[in-house]
Amino acid sequence: MKKACPKCNGTGSIVVDTKICENCDGTGYVDTFEMKNHFKGVNSNARAKFDLDADQDVPCEVCDGKGMVDVLEDCSYCNGTGEITVCNDCGKRIDSDKNYCDECAEKQEEEKMKKQAEREKNPEKLVVESDISGKEIVYELDGLCEMSDLELNSIYRGKVTRVERYGIFVSLNNQVWGLMRTRNSSNKVGDYVFVRITQIKERKREVDMAPASVFKGEYVIKKVKKNIQRTKIETLDDSSMGNVVKVYGEVIQIQQTSGPTIFTITDETAITWAAAFNEP
Ligand SMILES: [Zn+2]
Ligand SMILES: [Zn+2]
Ligand SMILES: [Zn+2]
Repeated sequence: MKKACPKCNGTGSIVVDTKICENCDGTGYVDTFEMKNHFKGVNSNARAKFDLDADQDVPCEVCDGKGMVDVLEDCSYCNGTGEITVCNDCGKRIDSDKNYCDECAEKQEEEKMKKQAEREKNPEKLVVESDISGKEIVYELDGLCEMSDLELNSIYRGKVTRVERYGIFVSLNNQVWGLMRTRNSSNKVGDYVFVRITQIKERKREVDMAPASVFKGEYVIKKVKKNIQRTKIETLDDSSMGNVVKVYGEVIQIQQTSGPTIFTITDETAITWAAAFNEP
């Protein structure tokens, strides 16, 4: 960040001395100005209006009539430029090609490294911490989480979407669901239930669940949020099949069908279509 030099107030030079003005020899005035000489050829009636015999003093332009002039030197603090560069963070003076002082730059670097390390430890999944003190943690998946985000033996909150003789199907979000084997369950479709993940069969895309009993007041809900990078529409192709992607764009058309609602979405790169299904 640039700032006016505090030593020279941004002028780039400082007064080191004063000396007698050479232009006027210290008198503050230059050659007396003889009115008479300026009225040659002017008719006598006009001349009569002026006191032509009086000498006129004209203030010296160099010293502004003071007779003394300042002796200036380039400001050594700013090398005569009138401005200095300071750290954007702490305001300390720095080299002109930098934005931050060494300490602030180091602090920022450390901060960046810390964040980077956190991201590497947990590249996509971000668990929002809530205050917990020995209470059971019940996870809730956001809409972007996938089967790979599940943790074995953890408890999740889900919704019953189908009831069969051999068990009930529980959805944890629109794309992650599992089967809880249980006979004579009293659960109905639409009930919220707590389940423990007992097995994750990634290849078969199956999740086994068991009933989990948590009691009111003895658990905390933790939302599992998935951070995924934005994908530009133009880069979507066959290789994107089966991936969860995040697209930022503008909905330019909405089409109601007997099945899903179709949204036409455009970003600055291309156009695509998205089908929205209502939650069961
Ligand atoms: Zn002068
Ligand atoms: Zn200066
Ligand atoms: Zn600084």
